[in-house]
Amino acid sequence: MFCLKGKTAIVTGASRGIGLEVAKVLASRGANVALIATRENPDIAESIAKEYGVKVNSYGIDVSDSEQVNEIFKGIIEEFGAVDILVNNAGITRDGLMMRMKDPDFDDVIRVNLRSVFVCTRALARHMMGRRQGRIINMASINGIRTQAGQANYAASKAGLIGITKSNAMEFASRGITVNAVAPGFIQTAMTDKLPQETVEKYKAAIPVQDLGKPFDVACAVAFLASDEARYITGQVLGVDGGLNA
Ligand code: NAP
Repeated sequence: MFCLKGKTAIVTGASRGIGLEVAKVLASRGANVALIATRENPDIAESIAKEYGVKVNSYGIDVSDSEQVNEIFKGIIEEFGAVDILVNNAGITRDGLMMRMKDPDFDDVIRVNLRSVFVCTRALARHMMGRRQGRIINMASINGIRTQAGQANYAASKAGLIGITKSNAMEFASRGITVNAVAPGFIQTAMTDKLPQETVEKYKAAIPVQDLGKPFDVACAVAFLASDEARYITGQVLGVDGGLNA
């Protein structure tokens, strides 16, 4: 089940956290992977390639920059032969209360979290349409559906990403390309590791399954949506949130 042998995936934001785990899980299912982050990460690429016996290269670009993305994606298609899966995962936060939020805090989050999805998907769409197959998975957040104070920029970017997902799903469906979003809840990453234990316990108590999620939980949802078995699922937002949004 969910075999990705012979497929190639591009994963953005793959230097750490959820994106790195997605890259590893896709590789463990047999996919070759192009890792994207702001800098090249050749050591990570080498270790994943060695562990799973697949081809892995890393690239350093700003995913919101059309010129860089178009050039690098063209190179990846040439290097790997074809690309079957795109995981738009790169993202940032610049939280702050509305009255104190500076213009760059708003613009940067929209650019990296939302514009990048437009730029990266467009750069690959023609290639996928020509092959009449493709899987696009966009990393949303529970905050794009049910959010909280201090995240106007982030919530807007993730709600927008869900909008692109649904529109692209309609546009590409007849070409064999599915487009879905995964919406993680509270996931244990370097960011959450820094929180005081007391705060973490408070969050846990609010989650129906009473535990934080792990990057692996999110990566498995991505692997499923990337598989041939998910061919009839498109335009959906799959929550990986321990029941928070139930
Ligand atoms: P993270 O650990 O902060 O990693 C972010 C990744 O994005 C890094 O690889 C970073 O690369 C890359 N990146 C940032 N800006 C970029 C740019 N302009 N161009 C290219 N790459 C860029 O984040 P995470 O916690 O794993 O989150 C990953 C995704 O899941 C995000 O979209 C986030 O919104 C979403 N999410 C996370 C949680 C959570 O609890 N962690 C919950 C819901 C949704 P560098 O290493 O080069 O900086």
